[in-house]
Amino acid sequence: MSKGHILVVEDNLDNYELVRTLLELNGYDAFLAVNGRDGVTAARKQKPDLILMDMALPEMDGWDATQRIREDPETKHIPMVALTVHTLPKERKRALDAGVDAYISKPFDAAYFLQVIESTLKEAKKKR
Ligand code: MN
Repeated sequence: MSKGHILVVEDNLDNYELVRTLLELNGYDAFLAVNGRDGVTAARKQKPDLILMDMALPEMDGWDATQRIREDPETKHIPMVALTVHTLPKERKRALDAGVDAYISKPFDAAYFLQVIESTLKEAKKKR
């Protein structure tokens, strides 16, 4: 049984393959949206347990996509983790202000990555 369905919004397919492999090896399912607009649509359609959001994305960037997901009553409760190379404190704050629950900088450590996913899912379950 899957530990959770995770929507990965990522335009770099190499990054996606890495993230998907890590998630699948650890009992999660991953599915992909390749830009911010598709991410918002996929969140609404698929109701994932968690969204991993890249910030630098074509069509609609990760900050805008996060805000839209947070504004929509259908998707606002879905836990979100930013996965990004934007590591400056102000970029981190901007992502948190847009509505992500947690933030992982690229490149990331696999154990740390999984720990953030797990704790974010756990926190979200408590809130419901
Ligand atoms: Mn990107």
